[in-house]
Amino acid sequence: MKVLFAASEAYPLIKTGGLGDVIYSLPRALNEAGADVRVILPAYRAVLEKAPDSKIIAWMDVTGVGRTHSVRILESNDTSLGVPLYLVDCPQLFGRPGNPYQHPDGYDWPDNAERFAVFSRAVATLTSSAIDIGWQPDVVHSHDWQTGLIPALLKHQQDAPKAVYTIHNLAYGGIFSHHDYISLGLPDLWWSTEGLEFYNNFSMLKAGVIYADQVTTVSPTYSKEILTPQFGYGFEGVLHSIEYKLSGILNGVDQEAWNPKSDPYLSSHYSHKWRTFKGKSDNKAALLTEMGLEATDERLNAPLFGFIGRMVEQKGIDLIAEVIPHLIENNNASFIILGSGQDAYEYAFTELARRYPEQVLLYLGYSEGLAHRIEAAADFFLMPSRFEPCGLNQLYSLRYGTPPIVHHTGGLADTVVDTSGETILNNSATGFVFNEPSAAALQYTIERAIACYENGDCWKQIVRTGMQQDFSWTQSAASYLALYQQE
Ligand code: ADP
Repeated sequence: MKVLFAASEAYPLIKTGGLGDVIYSLPRALNEAGADVRVILPAYRAVLEKAPDSKIIAWMDVTGVGRTHSVRILESNDTSLGVPLYLVDCPQLFGRPGNPYQHPDGYDWPDNAERFAVFSRAVATLTSSAIDIGWQPDVVHSHDWQTGLIPALLKHQQDAPKAVYTIHNLAYGGIFSHHDYISLGLPDLWWSTEGLEFYNNFSMLKAGVIYADQVTTVSPTYSKEILTPQFGYGFEGVLHSIEYKLSGILNGVDQEAWNPKSDPYLSSHYSHKWRTFKGKSDNKAALLTEMGLEATDERLNAPLFGFIGRMVEQKGIDLIAEVIPHLIENNNASFIILGSGQDAYEYAFTELARRYPEQVLLYLGYSEGLAHRIEAAADFFLMPSRFEPCGLNQLYSLRYGTPPIVHHTGGLADTVVDTSGETILNNSATGFVFNEPSAAALQYTIERAIACYENGDCWKQIVRTGMQQDFSWTQSAASYLALYQQE
């Protein structure tokens, strides 16, 4: 089974969120299960800097907006992904600073429609019989709006491979104007409500949903939630119409990249099999020191809550900002926050860090190492997301013995078991779950978590149970393989 993964990011070459982690770990899990998976990415400047050695395996002309791009397909010598890597090299579109989607100043590149249409066209052309690179995929598995045009293009190509499409986050629909549609020279035939048209604009995500042979989302619960107006972002109608080919497959944790026993970013290693919790407290002491505080007993004994992620409404970051003063003043809690995003949230946390310099430890920006150290050092992890397609941080938290505190939605609902009298007794509790995405519910739940922490035995039990959960990719990779093989 030959599968080409087409995506806009892949750790460790380029990553802005969970998509990058999945494109790193799922292909390797599939290869271990017997598939032959290769990855294709745009040749962003950052990728070429990290993976400079490659050979040209194909040239093609690709239609853009009012111009034709001469595109080179590179086969990279880079091995960091652990599977073969192809790059779509088009310096006018991808040879830029910043992350895959945005200028370094934080605004979306104005030509994103052209950038990802050209990428998608190049991938579709590469899989056509017109080009022979000595490897022809049976399946093209594309991810999120940036690659949504691929299934549509394949559907209109002779002898095309099967198209599988995964929605990692429906909130990003790849929505562009009718003017962009015309400029890109997309076929008139596709401009309809049954096609790419979306409320007088068009959506690249919808192209993937309509034309793929199979559509997946990244957790079973999210695959149901997106059929409702509350979570559907206007796509609920179209998703209902393709429900027969829609399924939810839970993301997994890369067992090597996220392993507290061997994580190179940690100063102290640990495992649930080791009787002592010293590994965790050593990491807490190291993190306090790293953030400029003395690791006194008082600080080490106070519950530390971590957050890592994009500072956007989806993540409920405003709810965290709202409850922090109360929890510091009444419950002796402290917080370590890593992320970046909307100015208003960055400003709110900068103010909190100024007001409580010893209790609100803030790093605005991106740091892979600090993310690992927070997972190891914190006593609890906060994920009050309003919606969460799967979420990876709660899975990393479970593995690192940091019970997650989550809103009951999407993948969070599928992976965290609330602590109650019953779940403590039957030893299934792994975290804390609340039903209403409100500051009051979050605060009440954090107070429940603090009571468990102060009890000591309760916290140790849920830490151990969480660390023993198996969220490896094995099961999910088998589900994807079955889907690829489905007629
Ligand atoms: P999403 O994909 O919605 O952003 P996920 O929980 O699925 O959220 O995945 C987020 C991934 O990105 C995790 O690996 C997380 O550690 C990482 N991440 C997010 N923000 C940062 C940051 N500021 N620094 C380091 N890693 C981050």
